[in-house]
Amino acid sequence: MGTVVEQQTPYQCDRCGATNVVAAPLVYQQGTHTYSTRFGSGTTQSFSAQATAPPRPRGYRRPVLVWGPMVMFLTLWTFIGLGAVFQVRGISVYKVNLALIILFLCIGSLAGLINSIRRVSRYNREVYPHLRRNWEHTYICRRCGSSQLILS
Ligand SMILES: [Zn+2]
Repeated sequence: MGTVVEQQTPYQCDRCGATNVVAAPLVYQQGTHTYSTRFGSGTTQSFSAQATAPPRPRGYRRPVLVWGPMVMFLTLWTFIGLGAVFQVRGISVYKVNLALIILFLCIGSLAGLINSIRRVSRYNREVYPHLRRNWEHTYICRRCGSSQLILS
């Protein structure tokens, strides 16, 4: 282990006036260590690295996991329902209504899926870059631990 060279910044802490202020990405980088063994690889993080973790873009896994099974289930039953309506003569109004209700539910859940995917995409496009930029400009005081945003 070599000595850690602190990157000096011209900034001062708002709260305690210390000049020992470091950038959040640096704290994160110094506290994060990747390792690899015969059995796999991973990362270990110090407490301060965890506290200064960068914002992450949202993934598409969640909307697909939440809506996907429902969309598939309702699509299957829409086909079964509509198939029954078109094949069987003298089918009751009740069954036609039921098939239509399932069809509407199917369209509704598909809209839900598309909507939540669009929300994730909009977040990654519009919100995430701001959070990332703020993170890159966040400085943390080594003495009192207060963090501040310095945009200059
Ligand atoms: Zn301070």
